[in-house]
Amino acid sequence: MKVIKIGGGCFKDEAAALAIIKLIYKRGKGNIFVLSAFSGVTDLLLSGISDALKDENTISPIINKLKTIHYSFINYLIDDKAEKNTQKQKIILILQKLERFYFGINFTREATPRMRDIIACYGERLSSLIVASALLSRGINASCLMPHKIGIITDGKYSYASAIISKTSKNLLTFFKKHASKDKIFFIPGFYGISESGEITTFGRGGSDYSAAVIAAAIKADILEIWKDTEGFMTADPDNIKKPKLIPKLSYVEAAELAYTGAGILHPRTVEPVKKAKIDIAIKNTYSPDAPGSLITSKGHKTSSIIKSVSYTKNIAVLKVHASGIGARPGILSQITEKLFAKGVNIKSVITSQTCISILLPKNDIDRSQSIIQTIKPKPYIRSEKSKNVALVSIVGDGILRHKGIAAKCFTATYDADVNIQMISFGTSNAALYFIVDADDLDKTIKALHSNFFE
Ligand code: ASP
Ligand code: MG
Repeated sequence: MKVIKIGGGCFKDEAAALAIIKLIYKRGKGNIFVLSAFSGVTDLLLSGISDALKDENTISPIINKLKTIHYSFINYLIDDKAEKNTQKQKIILILQKLERFYFGINFTREATPRMRDIIACYGERLSSLIVASALLSRGINASCLMPHKIGIITDGKYSYASAIISKTSKNLLTFFKKHASKDKIFFIPGFYGISESGEITTFGRGGSDYSAAVIAAAIKADILEIWKDTEGFMTADPDNIKKPKLIPKLSYVEAAELAYTGAGILHPRTVEPVKKAKIDIAIKNTYSPDAPGSLITSKGHKTSSIIKSVSYTKNIAVLKVHASGIGARPGILSQITEKLFAKGVNIKSVITSQTCISILLPKNDIDRSQSIIQTIKPKPYIRSEKSKNVALVSIVGDGILRHKGIAAKCFTATYDADVNIQMISFGTSNAALYFIVDADDLDKTIKALHSNFFE
């Protein structure tokens, strides 16, 4: 059995969704599909929360918008009239419940993490019901299984839950042993599971990839396929390099590192569950389903340049905390990171010296993070400063530490391109070298690296 994840990008409009339905019809039998919400729906659900907090008059328009979007998919994807109406009735009931949640938020003037998670995963539930019904109406034996009913068990952490694979595995294996068959197709909404105490908990934004990996590991699937509207992992972003090359094979570690710096192909946590279960991940392009795509395995594939890809993220900023004798003062780093953690800030990385701790943060958390650490009393540092106009660049390839000359090649390229390197992290991972450059230098940095390693 395969587990196949289909991303929101593949459902960017009705026509794209229809192409996917046809593909599932042809190639999907006997497998499990994990779906994202239709494009843009999760954002809508979440902005609905902030709007509902402020003004109850925003609730009806949001519900109507969600209804219009999903009705339009139903009309386009389902031909059978009776099935169409059944689905619309279902959608109405689901949206009625959602509307009550929004009113609850407005009334109590409070959106708890619990309520946020309950609302955030409505998009996945709706898309999965509709896609399953579209296949059912084409004569396929399709059914939609809700994660909270079949028992995708989580650790209960709202917004950034992790799955408990052993318990999930027990539940899913029992279920599929009984119900799976060669011609059946199951659809499962991605993005969330249920805690042991029965609370809906989401796996974080973009978490449907992780859901699919959890399900693949839980049922010991033959393979995890990620269907996307792109070819696979590339040697660079096509925004910077006109003709980057496809990476046909890569290792779990390389994929995780590339996912982390933003390649956008895979959620960074996808590798965790399948790595333990030794299940390969295949990235498949829905526009050319027979193309090889990228295959991620435990071994990967060694190339002569060692480096597989040049990647970057602009969603980064650096908070520099200046202090003296950092290495000799116990607790200073933990004081800062604990405070940030308590306020829900996710630290991306930390690089320290004796006089400065540099904390890499998501760009939109930087201002708030500086204010947060200013509340630590007594102040354990001298001053803090922010750099926002930066980008994090990484070169990724297994064995980067074991091979001579890669760092030299990397920084010769940036030197020749007249790029100033602000910070380096090397040696912590055997598969990646990271550094920070001025955001304005990003494009020429990527071009210089790509030409040095791949052209
Ligand atoms: N719909 C969720 C999000 O947009 C999860 C996902 O698409 O993977 O974050
Ligand atoms: Mg997504």
